[in-house]
Amino acid sequence: MTNQVIDEEAAVASRRNFLKMGGLAAAGTTLVAGAGAGFVLGRDPDANVGWGRTEAGADQFFNRKPFEVDKAPTLIEVAPIERPEWSDFLFNRLPVLSNAIAGGWNPESGWEAIEDDRVRDYYSRYPERWPEMAQAFREMDTRREHREKYRDRFALAWAHGNAWETGRTLSNFPPNPKEGPEVDDFKFIKVAPTKFKSAAHASKLVKKMAYTFGASIVGITKLDHSFVFKNMMRKEGGNRDWGEEVPKHWKNIIVFGVPMNWDPMYAAAGYSTSYDGYFRCKNISGLLSVWLGELGYAARPQWPGGDYEVILPPIAVQAGMGESSRNGCLVTPEVGLNIRLAAVITDLDLEADKPINTHVREFCNECKICADTCPSGSISKSDEPDAVVRGWSVFDFNQDSCFRFWSTVPTDNGKGCRICVAVCPYTRKNNWIHTVVKELDPRDPTGITRKTLLAMQHNFFYYPDAEAFHPEWTGGNFAGYHEPPEWLRTENYLDVEKTWEYDGNWEGF
Ligand code: SF4
Ligand code: SF4
Repeated sequence: MTNQVIDEEAAVASRRNFLKMGGLAAAGTTLVAGAGAGFVLGRDPDANVGWGRTEAGADQFFNRKPFEVDKAPTLIEVAPIERPEWSDFLFNRLPVLSNAIAGGWNPESGWEAIEDDRVRDYYSRYPERWPEMAQAFREMDTRREHREKYRDRFALAWAHGNAWETGRTLSNFPPNPKEGPEVDDFKFIKVAPTKFKSAAHASKLVKKMAYTFGASIVGITKLDHSFVFKNMMRKEGGNRDWGEEVPKHWKNIIVFGVPMNWDPMYAAAGYSTSYDGYFRCKNISGLLSVWLGELGYAARPQWPGGDYEVILPPIAVQAGMGESSRNGCLVTPEVGLNIRLAAVITDLDLEADKPINTHVREFCNECKICADTCPSGSISKSDEPDAVVRGWSVFDFNQDSCFRFWSTVPTDNGKGCRICVAVCPYTRKNNWIHTVVKELDPRDPTGITRKTLLAMQHNFFYYPDAEAFHPEWTGGNFAGYHEPPEWLRTENYLDVEKTWEYDGNWEGF
């Protein structure tokens, strides 16, 4: 071997080593950078699933500070400033004009004949604007004459717009049923059913609309009558005595949910609420019902607040949204137990989703964190399901002792606890660690991932004692699983003297 060859080989080896070292360094840097980025992302409001930026105020992302001025340059005073008249607002004048037309007035006869003196005053100030308004009424008539010719093109856009408009306009939304379901469920229908290309197309679009209306997770299933309450049909006057018959048009159910605001939920019990989730769900159920009606299909919304005619968690399980947990709640892969549910029952033919198996039952059998933390001892600590309810094998759960604890919680209306929701290892924001774990655990047939996660959960995370969650007047200290977010701490914003300490994990974790 010549020196030249040796030198060349040494040079190649050295290059290889350099490349290897470089590769290792790059891999190491990537790992650290990835972990760092993951940590930052995990702390970002975007880690909240379904919505979050708006709630965190981060949508207003333009830094206005450098552009602040004392006087807005586009508000220019050139004459004495006056307050606006009632009639200066177009949408105050319009109903007056529409009502006058309904009462027999003809726009062609001019504004002078309008009874309302405020509207007359407006057009006496701006007479040159009246021809435009008169023409607008002619245009509306012409548009009405042409409308149906364009249904094939605009049906979905109309359904979408009218859903929001109906939701915006009705003070009671979704409206409480006035008639029996064979009448009431059809109240939003204006046209014969619009034919979908297939049930699969219908399901795809229905889900898309539910997301558009604000849902975070959506599933569809055939309505299983085992989960329809007996004698629960809503009707005007609170008459629920409808017998046991399930209406024939109740074919499929679209079930959906949104998470409650994460940080108050983690601060359960005293600082949390379910009503934010309820409110969003209620509106989505109404919007989706109007949308279905616009396309010619029956819709029966089921929304939170004592108005369910069906039991939603097991239906959501059938619809593949998640699985049933130790405490009876739905566990979803995305947001764990942090989901509030609503639904719409319809006669539209839909393709059903399939249930899923991410091995929640095995996890719950070993976990028991909710049962150990529950301040009322309402959740079974058994190693496996130990009760039978209406034929279903479940973990025993005491609704009444759970409600007793709700009644002690220092929320303004004493409703709800949610500690079992907050402490569940599945109820975690969508940061990179949780994303990896959620993918890994259901695919591990050995159960090692589950056992490792549970060991970490039990040993590295702080859970206040069950007694600490109780109010001070019954011996606790208003503990929360997490400390409250800064915006729920009165001492940060209100002129109060802080005489208390918080008990719980730091709000950021
Ligand atoms: S809501 Fe509270 S009291 Fe009820 S089961 Fe969950 S942790 Fe227990
Ligand atoms: S805390 Fe544990 S036992 Fe309870 S629902 Fe969650 S995973 Fe199941």
